[in-house]
Amino acid sequence: MVKAKRFEGKVAVVTASTQGIGFAIAERLGIEGASVVISSRKQQNVDAAVDKLRAKGIQVMGVVCHVSNSQQRKHLIDQTVQKYGKIDVVVSNAAANPSVDTILQTKDSVLDKLWEINVKATILLLKDALPQLQKGSSVVIVSSIAGYNPPPSLAMYGVTKTALLGLTKALAAEMAPDTRVNCVAPGFVPTNFASFLTTNDEIRKELVANTLLGRLGTAEDMAAAAAFLASDDAAYVTGETIVVAGGTRSRL
Ligand code: NAP
Repeated sequence: MVKAKRFEGKVAVVTASTQGIGFAIAERLGIEGASVVISSRKQQNVDAAVDKLRAKGIQVMGVVCHVSNSQQRKHLIDQTVQKYGKIDVVVSNAAANPSVDTILQTKDSVLDKLWEINVKATILLLKDALPQLQKGSSVVIVSSIAGYNPPPSLAMYGVTKTALLGLTKALAAEMAPDTRVNCVAPGFVPTNFASFLTTNDEIRKELVANTLLGRLGTAEDMAAAAAFLASDDAAYVTGETIVVAGGTRSRL
């Protein structure tokens, strides 16, 4: 039961937030008092997610935004400012994993898509959001445990997630002192995105065995870490990544 109200009076934009981890982050920020702006590629998903959040008493607006579409990114920021007048929190959560090929087998067009959605879109969204970001604002980027040691079936995806660890450090320096930039690196969470792994019994057992806590993550586990980083509880934290992976091996 969440009792904290760390985001009262704050406005939060969360990309790729109509289901899974992004939805859970939007829900958590909203339950803690934020006005949230959710988005994803499909209007019907946006509408359904808005309804679910409103039913929980959350102040929410939904906007269609494919993160690699420049007009839709601008529209997301414009609509947010038109409705709420400012932005305090940006959570960049969208990613694609269109291929299980090895890196050297990955098509040129797929390499571009991975870079565009998983890395470049975060940069371009923040460029659009920058003039609206308040003093004391906060950015949370969603990377992955795969960023630390890209597994064979997720190799190039993993490399884009490694880039986000560096992007977090670099943007934290660029955006200080008014805006903090941090990152969450989730372990495996049984969402649609990871279903090609987590619905396979053998792989699922292996992923669970790799944790110290004996279970896969939940979207709510990720949301709790993202909310901490976005909140004033993390007022002296910037340029950092929290691994939320049940103790799965990642880094020292
Ligand atoms: P998910 O449950 O499959 O949800 C994906 C969400 O993203 C949906 O709302 C989808 O809605 C939206 N979306 C997809 N492509 C988009 C795009 N190009 N632009 C805007 N919205 C888009 O996925 P998830 O597991 O929560 O993944 C969220 C993030 O967590 C990703 O960055 C992923 O890399 C990271 N992550 C996940 C895991 C895991 O095990 N699940 C582990 C580590 C990291 P529409 O279809 O309507 O666009």
